[in-house]
Amino acid sequence: MAFRFEVLQKDTSSRARLGRIETNHGSFLTPAFLPVGTQGTIKSLTPEEVVEIRVEAIVGNTYHLYLRPGHETIGKLGGLHTFIHWKNPILTDSGGYQIFSLGALRRISEEGVAFQSHLDGSLHFLTPEKVMEIQRILGSDIAMVLDECIPYPSPYEYAKASNRLTTRWAKRCLQVRQENDPALFAIVQGGVYKDLREESAQRLVEINFQGYAIGGLSVGEPKSLMGEVLNWTIPFLPESAPHYLMGVGTPEDIVNAVVLGIDLFDCVLPTRNARNGTLFTPSGKMSIKQAQYAEDRRPIDETCGCYTCRHYSRAYLRHLYLANEILSSRLNTIHNLYYYIGLMNKIKEAIREGRLLEIYKKQQLKGLETE
Ligand SMILES: [Zn+2]
Repeated sequence: MAFRFEVLQKDTSSRARLGRIETNHGSFLTPAFLPVGTQGTIKSLTPEEVVEIRVEAIVGNTYHLYLRPGHETIGKLGGLHTFIHWKNPILTDSGGYQIFSLGALRRISEEGVAFQSHLDGSLHFLTPEKVMEIQRILGSDIAMVLDECIPYPSPYEYAKASNRLTTRWAKRCLQVRQENDPALFAIVQGGVYKDLREESAQRLVEINFQGYAIGGLSVGEPKSLMGEVLNWTIPFLPESAPHYLMGVGTPEDIVNAVVLGIDLFDCVLPTRNARNGTLFTPSGKMSIKQAQYAEDRRPIDETCGCYTCRHYSRAYLRHLYLANEILSSRLNTIHNLYYYIGLMNKIKEAIREGRLLEIYKKQQLKGLETE
């Protein structure tokens, strides 16, 4: 599988970089935000609509697709790209995060993790080798190793043992990797412990993967710790490989993380918030159900060029939301994803022009205003 990452330009005043990822299904520029298509769909939109929003790559969830409809079924039907009619790059997670969110329904051992399906209670056992096989059959462009995502807070000794297990699992994933397999990214864990994050990053880099993710954040830890964990970890990652912050986050989190050297993001926030009637705008979040919008003729954001803002008023969007209409989810998702992709494009432009810190400072001030 062809995979290449190239740093095109480095920011002069921070660790931010402008890069390009190339895969068999096309290339895209970084820093990039990948919307999450949990069940093989960006909820409520067609692939053509997703492309129109200028989304270049998406995330698929191995756990969900393995349980339903099953990776073998998807494989028989031509692989995930064909099955969901998406021509551009797909990154699949390993399912680790979902499995570890099951709590009492799962049991972990050196060999792998046993768990009960959240759908029908059936028993399953996933190993590092098995998640590689599943992602191979799905035909994703970028695969993730199986990792243990520990909760916050976790005691030091537990975090340490878990970290070492994650490293051994990562090694096993790489050992069974075949020539035409997806590119393989490792996941740095280690909770909120500086020495464990360093150890995790160093050991995984020694094994040598095509990219490195930072996992185990946005699991309930105080916001201030995220920046610290990134500061501890990123200096140990090779500059020549993409750095991926999993499951993060708000526009503010994204700008902060880009400054610290992150290239890839995925998060359900823009799509999930859209379905809950929460919309992103340059001046902060807007809850469309509020009575103040009942007769408001303005679009969500007068500066936004998305399909929703070009055609619909806040009053109509509020009505659709309160009437529980399907179109509400669709129009809100179009706007929120357009906002996120627009943010990433502004970030890329700012790095190119050497004024990322200017934007970053503005974002920080805005964060303070809304607190
Ligand atoms: Zn819009």
